[in-house]
Amino acid sequence: MAKRFSVDTYVNGILNGDRVLLSRAITLVESRLPQDHELAQEVIANVLPYSGNAVRIGITGVPGVGKSTFIEAFGNYVIEQAGKKLAVLAIDPTSQRTGGSILGDKTRMESLSINLKAFIRPSPAGKSLGGVAKSTRETIILCEAAGFDAIIVETVGVGQSETAVHAMVDFFLLLMLAGAGDELQGIKRGIMEMADAIAITKADGTNTNKAKAARAEYQNALHLYPMSASGWLPKVSTCSALQQTGLDMIWQTITDYLKLTKENGYFERKRRDQNLQWMYEAIRQGLEDNFYAHQQVKEQLPTITEQVKSGQKSAFAAASELLKLV
Ligand code: GDP
Repeated sequence: MAKRFSVDTYVNGILNGDRVLLSRAITLVESRLPQDHELAQEVIANVLPYSGNAVRIGITGVPGVGKSTFIEAFGNYVIEQAGKKLAVLAIDPTSQRTGGSILGDKTRMESLSINLKAFIRPSPAGKSLGGVAKSTRETIILCEAAGFDAIIVETVGVGQSETAVHAMVDFFLLLMLAGAGDELQGIKRGIMEMADAIAITKADGTNTNKAKAARAEYQNALHLYPMSASGWLPKVSTCSALQQTGLDMIWQTITDYLKLTKENGYFERKRRDQNLQWMYEAIRQGLEDNFYAHQQVKEQLPTITEQVKSGQKSAFAAASELLKLV
C-alpha cells in the first residue's frame, strides 16, 4: 500500500506544482480502497477552487492513425509555441491488451515525457470504463490545480470511451487517415458529430495529395450535419506529426473555438452541464455500489439469479424483490 500523507501535504504540494505529490494524489484517486477514496475526495474539494483554468482537449482516432506521434509533436508545439504547461491523460479501458495502457509503453512520447512542462499519466489498468472516466476527470482537476493549463485526454476511437471523453473536455479533436474510408476506420457517425475539428494525419510525402482530398471530402460531409449548439462549424485540416506541419493550424482552430464559445456563453454552459452530468453519474455509481455491497443482496443474488435463469421468476419480479432489500 502506498504511503499516505495528510490532506494539507497533498494540497500544498499540488498547489506548489510538486509533481511527486501530484502523482501520489492521482494514485489515491485511482485507488479502490475506501480510505484512499475518502482522502482523495478531501484533496479534490480543497484544490477545486484552483482548477478549471485549463483548456481541456480530447483526442481520439483508431489505433495506427498516429495519435501518440501526433500528441508528442502537438504537445511540444503547445508547450514551446503557445507557452503552456501540458498534462496528457488517457482513457483506455482495453488496457489489458498491452498489459498497461495506451500510454504505458515507455517508448511512446519520448521527448514529451522528459519535458518538465509536460506531465504524462497513463490510465489505470484493469478498471471499467466508468472507473477510468471518473478517475481521469478527477485527475484533470488535480493537474489544473498543479498549474497545468492545457490538458489532453487521449482515447482510442473505437468504442464508448470517446463519449466519456467528450463529456469532460472543451474541445474534441478527431484524427483520421486519408483514404481509409469511414468504415475501415471504425469511425461512427456519432463520433464525427462530436468532433469540433478533424485532422487528417500523415499528410507528408506521397500521402500529401490524398490527405488534401480527404480534407475536402470531410469538410463537405460536415456541412451536412446540423449546426451545433456552440455556433461553431467544425474545421478539417491536414497535418504531419513527422514533419511538424499543420500543428499551428490546429492550435489556431482551438484558440478560435475558445474565443467564440467564451464570447457566446457556450463554454461556461457546457462546463456546467458536464458537471451536472458527472454528478448524476456519481450518484448512479454510488447507488449501484451500495446495492451490490448490501449484505442481503449479496446473500440472495445467487439464488434469485438461478431462479431467473430457470424461468421460475421473471426478470422484473426478481429485480424488484432485490431492490426492496436495500
Ligand atoms: P497510434 O496507434 O494512433 O498511437 O499511432 P502511432 O502514433 O503509434 O503511429 C502509427 C504509425 O504511423 C507509426 O508507424 C508512426 O511512425 C506512423 N506515423 C505517425 N505519424 C506520422 C506522420 O505524421 N507521418 C507519417 N508518414 N507517419 C506517421
